[in-house]
Amino acid sequence: MNLNQNELKNKFGKNIIFGEDLSKYSWFNIGGPAQVFFKPESIEQLVEFLKYIKNSCKIICLGAGSNTLIRDGGFSGVVIKIGSKFSFIKQHKNNILEVGAGTLDKTLSRFAADNSISNFEYLSCIPGSIGGAIRMNSGCFGNEISNNLVSIKTLDFMGNLKEIEKTKIKFYYRGTDLSEDLIILSAKFQADAGNKNLIHEKINKYSLEKKESQPSQIKTCGSTFKNPKGKKAWELIKNSNCIDATFGKASISKKHSNFFVNEGGASSDDIEKLINYVKEKVFEKYDVNLELELKIIGEKIKNG
Ligand SMILES: Cc1cc2nc3c(=O)[nH]c(=O)nc-3n(C[C@H](O)[C@H](O)[C@H](O)COP(=O)(O)OP(=O)(O)OC[C@H]3O[C@@H](n4cnc5c(N)ncnc54)[C@H](O)[C@@H]3O)c2cc1C
Repeated sequence: MNLNQNELKNKFGKNIIFGEDLSKYSWFNIGGPAQVFFKPESIEQLVEFLKYIKNSCKIICLGAGSNTLIRDGGFSGVVIKIGSKFSFIKQHKNNILEVGAGTLDKTLSRFAADNSISNFEYLSCIPGSIGGAIRMNSGCFGNEISNNLVSIKTLDFMGNLKEIEKTKIKFYYRGTDLSEDLIILSAKFQADAGNKNLIHEKINKYSLEKKESQPSQIKTCGSTFKNPKGKKAWELIKNSNCIDATFGKASISKKHSNFFVNEGGASSDDIEKLINYVKEKVFEKYDVNLELELKIIGEKIKNG
């Protein structure tokens, strides 16, 4: 990478870190260093940064890191972290909520509940950010983030701002056709009035169901694989005689077999070995090729 480190530091100060340990930014608590780590404090600063680096190296965007496995060799490029400076919720008069991409799903769900706005209840169960949720078309309990989305505001890697209507984006199960070089800055959602008590009841119900079916207080990035059409990935895994498999400190949750776990000290390589092993076992038993839901970024350690 040909970026001048001194110049970057002079221009962007404390918002730039060289060699930042990325394990802090993934729910797996795994990952090597980022060559350049940039946590912008405003849209203006992000635009200035992107116009300065002119797409001259690899760039990746990170939200809350609850769906991203970062490899042990780190990322040889720029990691842009969309964090709390991009967290805001504005309620407009025309039943529209404008939400910053760094806002946590849970924060939006709580705001909606407090203001008697329905259809955001399920977000109380998803630990990511709004930017990550849109990129992943995240959802649960029959809802998806795209359902009441109106538009998104984005920046491309050259720093050009663009608002994109929902109708121009193709959303599918756990994904979108949004170009990889788009950073989501904020989103507008349709905000329908609801009954506050019913909204809270729904949140409690969802939360109980999640507690019953999924592990908590563990280092995981949630579902490892997408559910194949008409099937449940956790069921296929459970019945493929691989639930007790471990590689190093990587294992499979006994409560939810699609959740892979860093038991403490697992490497990204351990998790990837477990992923490949489970894929093989499920294919052997069911002739089904499991597709990753997790995003894997970065490089393996050479000879590692
Ligand atoms: C315990 C647990 C439970 C979970 N339950 C669910 C569930 O019920 N349903 C579900 O769908 N998911 C679930 N997940 C997965 C995860 O929380 C979601 O996919 C979440 O929406 C990811 O958001 P994030 O901000 O953490 O994304 P990250 O992991 O940071 O990033 C995911 C992807 O989005 C991109 N991205 C992130 N922010 C932006 C942005 N601002 N602009 C452009 N691209 C961006 C990244 O480049 C990456 O490709 C769960 C995870 C955990 C750990």
